[in-house]
Amino acid sequence: MDQRLHQIAERLGTDEMLLQLAEECSELSQACLKMVRANKGLTPKAPDECKENLAEELNDVKVCMELVESLVSGLQSKQQFYREYKTDRWYKRTFLGQDKA
Ligand SMILES: [Mg+2]
Repeated sequence: MDQRLHQIAERLGTDEMLLQLAEECSELSQACLKMVRANKGLTPKAPDECKENLAEELNDVKVCMELVESLVSGLQSKQQFYREYKTDRWYKRTFLGQDKA
């Protein structure tokens, strides 16, 4: 991790980073919705402008996720479990029609 980001995380602390992550997730959500609307011509914003905003918000979320993961111990092993479990479940729902509940 970039040492500057590590220093920022240490200075701001866990609660502030969780708040920042939540805020960035909200911004990413809006960027995703706007990208779909731009792709369908349903907003005056140009797709390229929306794509730029999507790239920015994806970055913001990734950075905040990385900082939260560095501050809260034990998250990464749990994430590995959920990644496998949910990928398997999603695959089965998508291709095998299983586990639709
Ligand atoms: Mg942002």
